[in-house]
Amino acid sequence: MKEVANQKVKIGHYNGKKITHLFACNVFNAKAAREWLSDEAYKSLMHSIKSGNKLERRMADGIAAGLKAWAEEKGATHYTHWFQPLTGTTAEKHDSFFTIKGDGTAIEEFDGNALIQQEPDASSFPNGGIRATFEARGYTAWDPSSPAFIVETGYGKTLCIPTIFIAYSGESLDHKAPLLKSLAELNTAAVDVCHYFDKNVSKVTATLGWEQEYFIVDENLADARPDLMMCGRTLVGHSPAKGQQLEDHYFGAIPERLFEYMQDFEAEAYKVGIPLRTRHNEVAPGQFECAPIFEECNIAVDHNSLLMDTMHRVAKRHKLKVLLHEKPFAGVNGSGKHNNWSLSTDTGVNLLAPGKTPRTNLMFLTFFVNTIKAVHDYADLLRAAIASASNDHRLGANEAPPAIMSVYLGSYLTKVLDEIEERVTEKFSEQDEAILKLDIHKQIPELLLDNTDRNRTSPFAFTGNKFEFRAVGSSANCAGPMVVLNTIVTATLKKFKQEVDGLIRKGEKKEIAILHVLQSYIRDSKVIRFEGDNYSDEWAEEAAQRGLSNFKTTPEALGAFVTESSKELFIQNGIYSERELEARYEIMLEEYVKKVQIEARILGFLATSHILPASIAYQNELITNVTGLKSLGLAEDSYRSQLNILKVTSNHIQEINDNVEAMIAARKVANKEENMHQRADEYCHQVKPYFDKIRYHADKLELIVDDKLWPLPKYRELLYIR
Ligand code: ADP
Ligand code: MG
Repeated sequence: MKEVANQKVKIGHYNGKKITHLFACNVFNAKAAREWLSDEAYKSLMHSIKSGNKLERRMADGIAAGLKAWAEEKGATHYTHWFQPLTGTTAEKHDSFFTIKGDGTAIEEFDGNALIQQEPDASSFPNGGIRATFEARGYTAWDPSSPAFIVETGYGKTLCIPTIFIAYSGESLDHKAPLLKSLAELNTAAVDVCHYFDKNVSKVTATLGWEQEYFIVDENLADARPDLMMCGRTLVGHSPAKGQQLEDHYFGAIPERLFEYMQDFEAEAYKVGIPLRTRHNEVAPGQFECAPIFEECNIAVDHNSLLMDTMHRVAKRHKLKVLLHEKPFAGVNGSGKHNNWSLSTDTGVNLLAPGKTPRTNLMFLTFFVNTIKAVHDYADLLRAAIASASNDHRLGANEAPPAIMSVYLGSYLTKVLDEIEERVTEKFSEQDEAILKLDIHKQIPELLLDNTDRNRTSPFAFTGNKFEFRAVGSSANCAGPMVVLNTIVTATLKKFKQEVDGLIRKGEKKEIAILHVLQSYIRDSKVIRFEGDNYSDEWAEEAAQRGLSNFKTTPEALGAFVTESSKELFIQNGIYSERELEARYEIMLEEYVKKVQIEARILGFLATSHILPASIAYQNELITNVTGLKSLGLAEDSYRSQLNILKVTSNHIQEINDNVEAMIAARKVANKEENMHQRADEYCHQVKPYFDKIRYHADKLELIVDDKLWPLPKYRELLYIR
């Protein structure tokens, strides 16, 4: 075990070791804690992990000492508080264990204070005005429920301590703090509801299994594309003659160079405990997917962030660049990050797995229907949770899934819900009994666990024992959508409990009360259910008739965060204060503005300093050619084609130039807008439309201009990597 951790994994394989030898060798998990901590420190740590309570302060020094000894034995020299600020990446500031004492002796030191809390100078992290008006300081605080781990980079090893990041005044400035709050609330609400069915349940955790899609391109080619380097996506580029029409990439073999890269980042992932399970090609050329075994939601979120970092880092070793952007290439599929979500009890029950007995059937139906009702009641918020400048290129932009939220159940469960809706009567009848006795468990695996019956166009699909939130973007931090999903299900379960208790107080039998409330929820949430093709135009029309929202752009979608009902939801459940919510809204708008602004700048720069010069050079070649032919005294007919190409080229050059100027003017207007929502709106509707116009002409020129003169690597070079 020890040797494995200290070895650098040879590029391309797992050093001939089984994955189990590598797995979690760099994680301070329960096993390591047992080995390196005193009994008392171990018990205290385990208790705080189980209960979710803060660590006892007096134990911190002991735990820090054990952690340091473990990390040093593995060769770590530095430690860092590892956190996920609202910038979309992870942050760390490394401190060495090394220090010099007052008397001049050099020692390695790491105490409880350093473990538990730090004050990173983080004034440059997004804070939506919170830190400006209140306190300039922010601090990171240890989250013991996510184990510390060691990252190996270059020649060094760093002990990483997962933390939350909050302002001195208490407001959260990161992804983890609200996530932990939402999980705690969900636990309370779900345990309460579980007690209708099983008094032994004392904890419910949300589980998350993400599926990460990504593209890989050659690093040298990517380096030659300022758009890929600065924006993570191509802003110009004509689709290749051979795109994904043939769909031969999907089950094709993975090219060896990429395979070596995958094995390398997988090995790094295994060492820090990320339980990767699958890897395969995706639909588009150059596109791939990996997915782990699902984990407790908080850990799964950390692991996804960590994996995204690892993928970027390891790609360098292989002279590759990984693209996590939702839409790196126009005309080929984009990338998502499906979030598979469920609820699991400490008694080992998946609450979204159909039951085998009438009692567990009813428990399953309760959580199933409550989730559907939550999505119905808060569809706009769920849409807002996945909104970003980059995801806008998927959602609502003729790509899957659409910006309209709906839930897919499959034919069998649709029938079950229809029956409850129609047949449950005032008094408990034989029919009700029959519904409860339906062996849902037996039917589901056949129908839903079978891949063929899945609706791959649905943004939120039930897949037999979990919901799959498919609309999440590939570059997103999973915490955003998870906080919203956890919170809306929490609120719905709380309401459900109140209503059922109310009926019980009125004298109804528990099971009947539950069925009645479920029946009303099924009725109320019916419009959110859709089994058909979500990509079709007919669905957009039908959804509009049903009154479902269709927010196609981020500035529009984000508004859902600050409606009265959202404020009430988040405040009442203790997830965000009004200030935090307003701040986050501001941060997300600002991020949108910045992203579009950077793209506009890069596009302008690409156009004027790459595409136009190349095109003008070609134009000159044509002119030389035409004047040459003319000077020979040839008839105009003999250089008609060249003249034609010249005219077309000149026209595209003109159009690009005019549109770039107009785009710059629009940007100036937008920048003057003080109100962040309006500025985002301006960027969305006044600046961004120029992207397509400029691109249209640039892509036409790419087809015309001499390949030798074209300064940017083309799609066919980028996508068909070997
Ligand atoms: P696929 O969708 O490719 O057929 P699976 O249905 O087995 O594969 O799982 C897809 C993803 O769902 C995996 O990442 C897996 O870890 C996750 N998953 C499976 N069960 C659960 C669960 N109970 N909670 C959360 N995620 C789950
Ligand atoms: Mg899936």
